[in-house]
Amino acid sequence: MTTEYQVRLDRNACDGVFACLVRDDRFVEASDGLATIDGSGDCSHEEREVNGKQLVTFTDDRLTAAKQAARACPVDAIDVLTEEDDE
Ligand code: SF4
Repeated sequence: MTTEYQVRLDRNACDGVFACLVRDDRFVEASDGLATIDGSGDCSHEEREVNGKQLVTFTDDRLTAAKQAARACPVDAIDVLTEEDDE
């Protein structure tokens, strides 16, 4: 099912454990050794980075993978935001 959701990554909190990478390959290692979100796909837009927080909106069927990555992060650096809760 295609859903619109946002993935937020707090790069200040990230400490490079990379548990997220194996759950969702849109998380990649940046040159500084921390995770970053690859928002370059056709299904993503609105990439912003403010104060180390990266926010990408995806419209695809990969919400579950994003949530698994968020759950796996030991420092809670990843949030997955959906509008489903409001419906
Ligand atoms: S799992 Fe969390 S701490 Fe580890 S690289 Fe991913 S965002 Fe960073």
